[in-house]
Formats: sequence, C-alpha cells, structure tokens
Amino acid sequence: MADVDAARRKLEAALGPEAVLSDPLALRLYARDASMVEGGCALVALPTTTEQVQACVRAAVTHDLPIVPRGSGTGLAGAATPIGDSLVVATARMTGIVEVRPEDRLAWVEPGLPNLDLADHLRPMGWTYAPDPSSQQTSSIGGNVNTNAGGPHCLAYGVTSAHVLALDVVMPDGSLERLGAEGPEAAGYDLRGVVVGSEGTLGIVTRVCVRILPTPPAVRTMLFGFDTVEACAATVSAIIARGVVPAAVEMMDQGIVRAVESFAHAGYPVDAAAVLLVEVDGTDAGVAAQTHEVEAAADANGVSSVRVASDHVERALLWKGRKSAFGAIAQIAPHYHLHDCVVPRTKLVEVMRGVYAIAERHGLIVTNVFHAGDGNLHPLFSFDRSVPGTLERVLRASDEVVRLCVDAGGALSGEHGIGLEKRDFMSLVFSAEDLAAQACLRAAFDPDGRMNPRKVLPDGARCGEFAIAATGSGHAASDAADLPEGSWI
Ligand SMILES: Cc1cc2nc3c(=O)[nH]c(=O)nc-3n(C[C@H](O)[C@H](O)[C@H](O)COP(=O)(O)OP(=O)(O)OC[C@H]3O[C@@H](n4cnc5c(N)ncnc54)[C@H](O)[C@@H]3O)c2cc1C
Repeated sequence: MADVDAARRKLEAALGPEAVLSDPLALRLYARDASMVEGGCALVALPTTTEQVQACVRAAVTHDLPIVPRGSGTGLAGAATPIGDSLVVATARMTGIVEVRPEDRLAWVEPGLPNLDLADHLRPMGWTYAPDPSSQQTSSIGGNVNTNAGGPHCLAYGVTSAHVLALDVVMPDGSLERLGAEGPEAAGYDLRGVVVGSEGTLGIVTRVCVRILPTPPAVRTMLFGFDTVEACAATVSAIIARGVVPAAVEMMDQGIVRAVESFAHAGYPVDAAAVLLVEVDGTDAGVAAQTHEVEAAADANGVSSVRVASDHVERALLWKGRKSAFGAIAQIAPHYHLHDCVVPRTKLVEVMRGVYAIAERHGLIVTNVFHAGDGNLHPLFSFDRSVPGTLERVLRASDEVVRLCVDAGGALSGEHGIGLEKRDFMSLVFSAEDLAAQACLRAAFDPDGRMNPRKVLPDGARCGEFAIAATGSGHAASDAADLPEGSWI
C-alpha cells in the first residue's frame, strides 16, 4: 500500500525540502511531457547527485510508489507522463560535464545536461557530439539516451546508441551499476545497449559516457526547392543511390516552409511544394565531391531553386528554419500531434500521398517535416483541441497513419519512442512471443514492475508471473480507468 506522506518525509530528509514537490500546481506541471497525454503523480523529486537518486528509489521501494524517471519533459510519446500515485524523479538538475578526454574521444556527463550545452562546450575544443535532436536546446542527454534520440545529423553518424559508451544506472532496487565501458569492447552481454532506448523502464541513468568526434574540417549546407513533393522525395533516394550518405537530409513540405518562413525569416522558397535541406561534411575534397553528386541528383529530379550557404551565419539561418519547425506551426493552430514512424526510403512518395489523403478524408491540416534520409516521417496534424470532435478525428487519422506506415514495411518509431501513445500499436509489429520476451527482459531488471509502469509494452504482455498491468501488488497493477484520457489507450 503506497504511503505518499511517509515517502515525502523521507525524500525531504535526504534531498532537502526544496527538492521535493507536492503542491497541486507542481504536480500538474510534471503530469505530462510534450505529447498530448496528461497523467498525474503524487510527488516530484529533483535530485542533484547519484546518491540522492538512490535515496529516491529506496524511498519509493520502502513506501511502495511507482517511479517515473524524467529529463526535460520534451518527449513526444508520453514516456515521461506519470500515472497514478507515482514518484517522478527528474534528473534535470544534474547538469554537470564531469570530464572531457579528447585523447580517448569521450566525455562523461550528467543526465540532465541539455544536449546543446554539451555541443557548445565541445565546439571551442574542436570536438562535437553528433546526435542533435531538433529539441537539443532543451532535451537532456539522459532523455536522449532513454529514447535513443535521433536528429538531422544522425543519418551519417548514427542515433544515440552509436554514441554512448557506458552508463551509470541506479537500478530499481536502489543499487548502482556501471553498464558498458570506456573502451570499445565491454565483456559480456551489451546491457548498455539494452538500457539505451528503454524509456526509463529499467533504471535511472545518473551518468553517461559519450563518444565525441572531431569537428569536420569542411561542411556545405544546401537548400533545394521542388515543384512537387514527389520530385523532392525522389531526390532523397537518388542521392543515396549515387553512393553519397550526407550528414543530413531533411525534407519540409510547403505548409511547414510557409510557417517557418514567417517565423524564422530564413529565406526559404515559399512557393516550392517541398524543400530539401542537405548537409555534407568531411575534408574539402570530400565535400566538393559529395556536393557535386547531391546537386546532380537534384538536377535530375527537376530542382526549381538551389541555395548554398555561403558562410556559417547563413548555414545557421537555414538550420534555424528546420529546427524551429515544430514551434513555428503554432501559427497554424494551437495544438499538434504526430507519430514518427519510419518507412523504407523508396516508399516515401507513396506513403506521403497516403498521409495527405488521410488528412483530407478527416478534414484535417497536415504538414510534413522530417528526417527524409532515413525515411523517418513526422506528419504533423495541426488542430484546435477545444473544437468538439476534432481531437477524436486527429486520433483516428493518426491511427490510420501508423497502420499505413506499418503496411509499407515501416517501424513504429524512428526516435521518439513508444511511451504511452504507441504501446497499443506494438502488437502490429510484434507477436505475443516477441512481447513476452521483452517483458522477460524488463522483469530481469525490474521484477516488481516499479519503473515507469504501463509504458512501452501493451497491457497483458507477460513473462511468467510478471505482467504489464498484472493484478496483485505489482506496480504495473491497475485497471484501464487510471490511464490518462485523450490518448490511444
Ligand atoms: C520541438 C521538438 C523537437 C523534437 N525533435 C526531436 C528530434 O529531432 N529527434 C528526437 O529523437 N526527438 C525529438 N524530440 C522528442 C524529444 O525531445 C526526445 O525524445 C528527447 O530525447 C527527450 O529528452 P527529455 O530530456 O525531454 O526526456 P523526457 O521527455 O523527460 O523523457 C523521455 C524518456 O526518457 C526517460 N528518462 C529521462 N531521463 C532519464 C534518466 N535520467 N534515467 C532514466 N530514464 C530517463 C523518461 O522516463 C522517458 O521515458 C523533439 C521534441 C520536441 C518538443
């Protein structure tokens, strides 16, 4: 039986009263991430050290509270959305850069460090951290690790899992483990790899050893405009077919370009049906050769405008347009919803046509801005939730988009994760046996089902006595009534 008051007293003694929140306003603020799902929690703890995180976990164990780890709350799948009498453990105050060792090509950082702060710290030293989610000003390294975040520059460099060497993790019983190693070959099973992308269901990450890379000596950023979405999408495959893997290939359709342009004034061609933002990097000779191939691919597909950034100021402006896209669409309507399904690159045109048709059928506005190079779609439905019936239409349309992508041979998520929003789609791509195997893996870390219950796996996914939403005293235990409304559950 959960004892919230006793847990609060214990946490206040361990962390100090200012680091434990229990007033209704604070609890409301921590009741959601950047998705549309709103839940609720009993307590919020803001630890600043690994020892304090351990104290949080032990208090939750002693007083029988589920734990929801949280970074900056920018997640788009409801993975950090708490449910029921949870203790939210937010690592956002753990922002230290512990050490940078260029000679070993690594850095140790704390989980609350915003992604961009790491990149900014490394830049004057001539180094970089490659994963660059568009939320990088705010999203934390701990959140990036737990969602296996991607970003525009992950096409050539790989998503977060390729850049994490080791993790310190507070386990669900309060013990501390180091998973992975600074060197390339950690012995035994790759438990570091298991935790990356686990959405806070296996433990709380308190320190991360990331791989750092030298800043490429040369870079070229190009913006191509096209008269049709089809020509734009076809150029993506044409670039790859020419043997070039650019650092980034981002696609934006006209709706997004117009919203971005009136906000960022980046000089995007507002009459184009779609644009491609392409960046190549490497040595001077390599960049010149890649640029030639990219331009040839765009030419072959009837490109209507070409702009090449002449200096770092113009480059930054072009990227500002792309990275502020989600914010810019607030001009269209107050709410947005998206899924980040991945489809084979060769199916981009077909799937995008299908997405537009779905939006039309439901009378909705959809715009597209996405990591085209790896087929990671982000169809954004813009709407006003206060108009009766609109949210329901958005949810039906989103459901159809997910099924369209899966039918095209796609995956449920390229980077945002599964969380609450997509967990009931898991059975579209995994068999009952697959889900049981994943439940067994989760139970090996967290036999009591205390960590971020009801996330990732659908209710009923079962490993022996451990089951998501099992009956009994396990923390997955609950009925559907305690799940937030307005979600897909
Ligand atoms: C405008 C915008 C643009 C975005 N662009 C991208 C993009 O380009 N690429 C991309 O991948 N995502 C993107 N996202 C989604 C989001 O920013 C990422 O999923 C990000 O990695 C979440 O980080 P966070 O710190 O906000 O984590 P949160 O949302 O707080 O948490 C995310 C998950 O990580 C877990 N978690 C957080 N910290 C810890 C910890 N210390 N230990 C254990 N578990 C933890 C939580 O339980 C949850 O499951 C975007 C979001 C927005 C709003």
